[in-house]
Amino acid sequence: MPPRHQPPEALLATLSTERGRSDRLTHTEHLPAREARYAPWPTAIRTEIVAAAAELGVGLPWEHQAEAMDLAKTGQSVVIATGTASGKSLGYLAPVLSDLLDGTEAPNGRGATALYLAPTKALAADQRRRAAELVPPRVRVALYDGDTPPEEREWVRQYASYVLTNPDMLHRGILPAHPRWSTFLKALKYVVVDECHSYRGVFGSHVAQVLRRLRRLAARYGASPTFLLASATTAEPAVTARRLTGVPATAVTDDASPRGPMVFALWEPPLTENVGEHGAPVRRTATAEAGYLLTDLVEAGTRTVVFVRSRRAAELVALQAQDQLGSPLAARVAAYRGGYLAEERRALERELHSGRLLGLASTSALELGVDVSGLDAVLLAGYPGTRASLWQQAGRAGREAQGALAVLIARDDPLDTYLVHHPEALFANPVEATVLDPDNPHVLAPHLCAAAAELPLTDSDLELFGPSTTQLLPVLERRGLLRRRPDGSWYWTRRERAADRVDLRGSGGSPVQIVEADTGRLLGTVDAAASHTTVHTGAVHLHQGRTYLVRDLDLDSSVALVALADPPYTTSARDITSISVLSTDTTEEWGEATLSFGSVEVVNQVVGYLRKRIATGEILGESKLDLPPRTLRTRAVWWSVTEDQLLDADIPLDLLPGAAHAAEHASIGLLPLFATCDRWDIGGVSVPLHPDTGLPTVFVYDGHSGGAGFAERGFRRAVEWLTATRDAISACECERGCPSCVQSPKCGNGNDPLDKAAAVRLLDILLAGAPRLQETPSGAKAPSGAKAPSGAKAPNGQDTGANDAPDGDDARGGSDAPDPSGAPDPSGDAVGTGKSGGADAAPAAPGATAGPAAPDPAGPGTG
Ligand SMILES: [Zn+2]
Ligand SMILES: [Zn+2]
Repeated sequence: MPPRHQPPEALLATLSTERGRSDRLTHTEHLPAREARYAPWPTAIRTEIVAAAAELGVGLPWEHQAEAMDLAKTGQSVVIATGTASGKSLGYLAPVLSDLLDGTEAPNGRGATALYLAPTKALAADQRRRAAELVPPRVRVALYDGDTPPEEREWVRQYASYVLTNPDMLHRGILPAHPRWSTFLKALKYVVVDECHSYRGVFGSHVAQVLRRLRRLAARYGASPTFLLASATTAEPAVTARRLTGVPATAVTDDASPRGPMVFALWEPPLTENVGEHGAPVRRTATAEAGYLLTDLVEAGTRTVVFVRSRRAAELVALQAQDQLGSPLAARVAAYRGGYLAEERRALERELHSGRLLGLASTSALELGVDVSGLDAVLLAGYPGTRASLWQQAGRAGREAQGALAVLIARDDPLDTYLVHHPEALFANPVEATVLDPDNPHVLAPHLCAAAAELPLTDSDLELFGPSTTQLLPVLERRGLLRRRPDGSWYWTRRERAADRVDLRGSGGSPVQIVEADTGRLLGTVDAAASHTTVHTGAVHLHQGRTYLVRDLDLDSSVALVALADPPYTTSARDITSISVLSTDTTEEWGEATLSFGSVEVVNQVVGYLRKRIATGEILGESKLDLPPRTLRTRAVWWSVTEDQLLDADIPLDLLPGAAHAAEHASIGLLPLFATCDRWDIGGVSVPLHPDTGLPTVFVYDGHSGGAGFAERGFRRAVEWLTATRDAISACECERGCPSCVQSPKCGNGNDPLDKAAAVRLLDILLAGAPRLQETPSGAKAPSGAKAPSGAKAPNGQDTGANDAPDGDDARGGSDAPDPSGAPDPSGDAVGTGKSGGADAAPAAPGATAGPAAPDPAGPGTG
């Protein structure tokens, strides 16, 4: 059966009214088609390029492409932030390739060079193809990544004028070996940063420092490249581009490409018979619901991709649809995710392309670099974490100007529930800003070392690397890493390579390899930080639809041995967390209450795990684990109220822990609405009486060493954030708290205690003293009146507070690196259970450890 195309309205009717499911549809948005607007080719673009584009079917560029070309040709850095399939690559390729063509007329044939950075290898390979289609072969276009054979590398360095690589390779392979790249760097005219919205959080902060190292070396060779960035639509693209590159950039955002009509439906799964923790009502999970809808769509011959938020969910949705479809259609549904071997993934891509596959359940691994056009429907099983990612995924449908259907299926959590009942938050608001924090000293320090190893640092470099540099250099000297020469410059003292001290995508420690005990076969990897919660001894691990039990987690050798098994349960780690304030940067008085932002130390220990029955979530038993605590120094936003306020809010001391804990859970759930993180990037702790504040205090912290900018964003947008939190809790129709409002699938305390009603009163009393909303414009610095108390080291918090560490998810089982606009692949959804079947938070290093198909940085000695 070939794929059939049906209008989106008809498809939606198939899913809803025809099946008696109309009540699950909370909103239908009709997005009209958009007419194309064209512009003449800028005269500065070489006629060869114009002719080649015509060959490829591009007569005239769209207006936004022409605008970007004009800016680039005048040497102005640009960020093109327009929708999927809006021809961003032609926008930067035309000026870049024009100048490279000019450069071939120089005596050495390489009068101009350009460097292209992609977050994935697949994208770089795709880019090589596109570039080669537009220019004659005398412009030498070459990939330079971990797969490039050593004998080719020398050729690339000497002769290529357009070099396509990834940030990891730039960091480890190219910059440390810059003398060998001197002629390339000397002629460097452009740096293209593709899919730049994927450089967010800690990963983005690392990439920002790598780009500063590149700019410094290029300047040393006399070059000052123009930066051309391509981004999904985000808020404030020019601000983000500047934070990422350090240079001002003009944003091109007025998308002039045509778009087919789209029907975008918001969908809330039904309540189930099951009851969850503490008797809470539970909805069918988004993954289970997606499995049903996928079944219907495949039966209708509709080519569909389901985007899910975890590797485990990808497996589960595909399995469920296969079960329900039966032979022969079952064979036309598959799962796709990071952690599969590259060959497996390529085969799936081909089959989806050819139409042999009709249904694919995929993590965001499919989001980038792989051209899956011609889809008729996209299902999003859970909000993908950011609006940028939402549109990126939905944009996969109907790319050929025909109508398409997108359905966002809400997960049973506060953010998704809020969104399907507040469509304006999705369709009327601008997308959120990409958050990164290059000043994070944990990020900056190793790059200062790497920079010093590349060329001794001088006072003139301080500004380039940002304000923390001056304080960090003496610290690095005390640690014996850098030494100051009499001339004032700093240089690297060690024999080892400075660049090897930092993995751009890692979150500390080498990834844990998941190995089949009987065969020795490598199944995949999981972040070191995630390993305690996801592949602890006794954990259930899914791979390729098979279930494994972890026999042993060996932290010394970073190996988890697993064996095939068929347990009737899932597992869910239990942990304990304490938090202490290291220093307070800023405090705002909200009447009697206070809101603060600063540095904290979080100590988290996985102490055991629960076994939960697959079908019902019923707890079958608990086992103890003996794992070492992990310490995280990071940034946090926290708020405290006074005892008088508690009295006013009618919250007696026995209700306080449940009130604070519930408010903390919901606030973690809602923060992603304001920052490009998701609840798995951040953690929280609520403490009835915190030793550092002496008051009832709720903390929300970045789950990454040194912080990633998320808590800071929460601090800046605190009034809106906590107001939305309060509204989400009070609007939930449940009586005593449920996963849609105050229960959290990653709670280290088993969602106990939680008091929904008292949480609303607590937030009300907190917000009563808050500045009025219009007085805290987005992105504003701390409002006036903010003070910065001294940062005394606080005593260790011996709190017994509730904790929610951003830690491990057995669903995660590794990561789909790189993680495009950010969904770090958490989950919780087990098919058919209302409860998060053994899932828990993920330690989402943004773009965490690369899976087998991810960019492969060069080892030492390359480049
Ligand atoms: Zn509820
Ligand atoms: Zn909790």
